[in-house]
Amino acid sequence: MSVRCRCFTGSPDRHADHERLNAAATSSARRWTRRGFIAAAAAVAGAVRDASAAGPAWSYPLGLPGRVLGDGCWIRDGYACENTWYNPGSWHTGEDWYVLDAETAGTDVFAVSAGEIVYADSDYPGRVVIVRHDSGLYSMYGHLAYDLPVAVGKTVARGDRIGAVLARNDGVPSHLHFEIRTFLTTDAVNGASPRYGFACGVNCPPGPGYWPMNAPDHPSEIGWRNPVHVINRRAWPRGTSPGEALVAASPPTSSVDVRASPSADARRRDTLSLTPGTRYPLLSMHAGAENSAATSADGYDLWYELQLSEKTRGWIQAIVPSDFDRGSDGRPSSLRFNFVPVV
Ligand SMILES: [Zn+2]
Repeated sequence: MSVRCRCFTGSPDRHADHERLNAAATSSARRWTRRGFIAAAAAVAGAVRDASAAGPAWSYPLGLPGRVLGDGCWIRDGYACENTWYNPGSWHTGEDWYVLDAETAGTDVFAVSAGEIVYADSDYPGRVVIVRHDSGLYSMYGHLAYDLPVAVGKTVARGDRIGAVLARNDGVPSHLHFEIRTFLTTDAVNGASPRYGFACGVNCPPGPGYWPMNAPDHPSEIGWRNPVHVINRRAWPRGTSPGEALVAASPPTSSVDVRASPSADARRRDTLSLTPGTRYPLLSMHAGAENSAATSADGYDLWYELQLSEKTRGWIQAIVPSDFDRGSDGRPSSLRFNFVPVV
């Protein structure tokens, strides 16, 4: 089996990423060939998650009992999107995660990567937990129930439970506000001299959660990051296999296009019917920039290359924009999963 580079940016880092992922994909495909397609791609819903098992270095922050992380969830208001029903005129600096077709309150929240708890306090409403990762990134989890199972100084592994979503009674639907960023505090946002009058105030690690649309800088220029892009780009370090992905619960469409490369403009190879819970070998992935400059859900860029049958592989969009919520310019602010990694 040949290892092809699927770099599109020409950047050396991206080249290395793609070489690594393709090498892992090749080894995964070899194992897959030995097992045979029927066994590998059989529909297996309700996989039991073992947070301590070897797996990716990063994974999604919300998970339902007995389900793959992120399965059964959606992002109602995406990163750097305008949330017109809650805070029009501002970009959202994180993602609001909800459970699909059910109440989100009480749902478990998990550390997205290994790190140290550096903040566990606030009333946002609800507690805020912030984890510092070795990479210099911080993950932040807001609107958590008050009985936190973690405290400052505790080390967590990827997939460790760090709390549950708060049941709110202030008229705002219960959800997880989730950010990834390069700072705990920084002067102009939540440090000594915040530039804008958000409620968080001075030296307030949780931060404002929003950034004015008329600010001269995009949230990514300040240090916030697109969480879905970060998680998928960093999930599989060198030498680890992406394993499998499964069709998420309630995908927004019943079938999707299979493309020859990770782009909606690429040649269409096939159409795939989406049956929730069906697993396919995940050969490689393509995710957009962590510091994406996009300003709507259309800017999310996540594709998985899947082995769809013994002889067919192709690229499928793993997360897609939804117009459930829209910015004031009409562009979508919400996102739904077609596929989630089996974690
Ligand atoms: Zn939010």
